[in-house]
Amino acid sequence: SEGGPDPLLDGLNPSQSRAVSARGPALLIVAGAGSGKTRVLTHRIAHLIRNREAWPSQILAITFTNKAAAEMRERIDGLLGAASEGMWVSTFHSACVRILRREAERFGYVAGFTIYDSADSRALLKRIIKELDADTYGFTPANAGSKISRLKNELTDADGYAATMNASDPRDRLFVEIFKTYEQELRRANAFDFDDLIGQTVQLFRSHPDVAAVYQRRFRHILVDEYQDTNHAQYSLIRELTRPVQAEQVERLVPPARAGELDAAGRIPAASLTVVGDSDQSIYAFRGADIRNIVEFERDFSGAEVVKLEQNYRSTQNILSAANAVIGNNFDRQEKNLWTAEGDGERIVGFTGYSQHDEARFVAEEVEDLHRAGLAYSDVAVFYRTNSQTRALEELLIRSAIPYRVLGGTKFYERAEIKDAMAYLTSIANPYDPIAWSRLLGAPKRGIGPMAEAHLANFQEEHGLSFHEAMLRSGELAFGPKVLGSIQSLAELLTRAAKMAAGDPEHDQAPAPVGDLLKLILDETEMVEKLRAKRDPQDDARAENLEELVAVAREFDVKQPGAGLLAFLTEVSLVAAADDLDDSSGTVSLMTMHTAKGLEFKAVFITGVEEGLLPHQMSVDEVGGVNEERRLMYVGITRARERLYLTLASTRAVFGDVSVAMPSRFLQEIPEGLIDWRQSPGEVTGRGGTESRALNAPRGGGSGSAGRSRRAVDSNVSFGSGGSGGFSSGSAAVSEPASGNMQSALDKWRERK
Ligand code: ATP
Ligand code: MG
Repeated sequence: SEGGPDPLLDGLNPSQSRAVSARGPALLIVAGAGSGKTRVLTHRIAHLIRNREAWPSQILAITFTNKAAAEMRERIDGLLGAASEGMWVSTFHSACVRILRREAERFGYVAGFTIYDSADSRALLKRIIKELDADTYGFTPANAGSKISRLKNELTDADGYAATMNASDPRDRLFVEIFKTYEQELRRANAFDFDDLIGQTVQLFRSHPDVAAVYQRRFRHILVDEYQDTNHAQYSLIRELTRPVQAEQVERLVPPARAGELDAAGRIPAASLTVVGDSDQSIYAFRGADIRNIVEFERDFSGAEVVKLEQNYRSTQNILSAANAVIGNNFDRQEKNLWTAEGDGERIVGFTGYSQHDEARFVAEEVEDLHRAGLAYSDVAVFYRTNSQTRALEELLIRSAIPYRVLGGTKFYERAEIKDAMAYLTSIANPYDPIAWSRLLGAPKRGIGPMAEAHLANFQEEHGLSFHEAMLRSGELAFGPKVLGSIQSLAELLTRAAKMAAGDPEHDQAPAPVGDLLKLILDETEMVEKLRAKRDPQDDARAENLEELVAVAREFDVKQPGAGLLAFLTEVSLVAAADDLDDSSGTVSLMTMHTAKGLEFKAVFITGVEEGLLPHQMSVDEVGGVNEERRLMYVGITRARERLYLTLASTRAVFGDVSVAMPSRFLQEIPEGLIDWRQSPGEVTGRGGTESRALNAPRGGGSGSAGRSRRAVDSNVSFGSGGSGGFSSGSAAVSEPASGNMQSALDKWRERK
């Protein structure tokens, strides 16, 4: 790459260019939002391949979502003008599933293992808690589940926890019981829960150095995007993959190591590691993400080079200034100096609705205006803090005939009818899975009651059979003729489906497409017809969902011909928050702020910018909670390229209770002049009219960055205090008569002041 222009470095600034061409053992790229971190990763991979420093198969790139992975692969292909086959670009979870599927037998699992989503593992925990009578001690599937998840993210298993717990605490001992049983049941079901995927891979590498050696050797370049959100388990995985292959393992490698691969000590040196991240965008502490991973990178990976990127290419200066001002209120951070050559751009638009419907109406109208002005719907995104905020927004978008989709919120695969159908497919791939099996027995109802189910389950366990085998031998049990008939015909259906799924190589018969399998199951069980026959619109919707599932499967068959059932099940279980199977062309995207990470849109609406929502009530009482919410706000703001809207409602119904909402402290942190209030908080409940002009005037005394730290400290009392602009006009609000709830909330507010 020396001398002469390099098309892969062209158009990059000097720091970006250095980040692409640096070739040390470890590289850390730290930079603010929109500074080209992801772009640099992509160029770096293309650069390595184009310069023949690495084969595509020697590269492992980790992204935060499957969607980001697909985009990155596409970009690399675009840069190289060729398909980068053999390269792994995936999330932590998908990479681990691939490894586990290949190596499952090494530790007593079958390659067809099921991946339990949180609903499945809650179902399993529910049984366990009931069996152990643990509910009387206050255990619920939810609280036990999240504790187990937290421990697994720390790579702590039940035994490990037992070793450190307070043994005199009966509740703790009971928890260990639950945890242990849960582990055993998962293993018996040939299933992994979501956290296992990473933890078990780490475990596998640690207990089988020969297996680890294969991957340590294969991946010569490991690149991780969004490194600030890795948790301990993910960090450990990276650690395992970036160890040198020891000489005694080198001897066993197939194919054998070439001389050039070895260092002086006869080892294969460690893979080079590149991580990019922004500690200001760390928003997954609740899932065990550990900012220290990025802070301590240099210590962990000796010889690491650090590159900082400071030019933002995404947003206008106004948007960037707002983001910088907000994040500047987090005191425990390194000061960054993010700038843009874009120019100021439009001012940020602020709006306060009377209610969430009024807020939604404003959003819909503005989207229409933007669209009329030439913006594509797909250039627009609407963010919110919690999923419950979508309903009002959806209603107004539907009414305005604006095409939209909800990312991560549809929970298509969590719907009962979809889970029913998927249970059949799961059971075909993994006939040992009790959760899937128990589900399909009753879907649709076929007269197999809990007694019969328990009978079969005991029989299965005693004889070490799969559930499918147990059903085939149900004649040996004392069932009445009707129940027996039901069981037998279900068993026959599963036999037929399993044969189709496996294909018959001897008779040259390929495994059936997943769409055909699903069609067989739906036809034979008459699931769709039964729903349609009920003539209930909700059941109609369920029938449509099932038809949609067939369409999804058919699409999968076309996209990945011959990939088979297991690949389909894997894909479905890995569909993560930011992933949707359909594409986003021509629709407005609705999503939570968490899902928005890494994405960018020309126009962004952040809704519900209120105390209690953003920052979320739950975070306010937690140590560091508000700082994390502030980072979330920073992530949200920095998604916008040209237009940013901050909206709120002065009253909001939560669980049917209407309460007065206070503007978020984060709004206070944005310099006044950056926001053009279309309708201010003061106007809404107050006199309206004249204030809107005053709001745009600069804040009196203590404004600008000098006032920042003060406001951060006493932000809970700063509404309406000091100066002439912004929410200070709130005093008008309290002088107006208001009814019921609203009055009392206003009174409270006055007291706080
Ligand atoms: P985030 O922190 O949000 O993940 P990021 O640092 O990964 O952001 P990118 O998404 O890589 O940033 O880049 C932001 C935008 O800036 C993209 O549209 C990208 O194409 C563009 N960009 C980055 N670097 C350059 C450059 N040197 N010239 C032109 N455009 C650039
Ligand atoms: Mg990025």
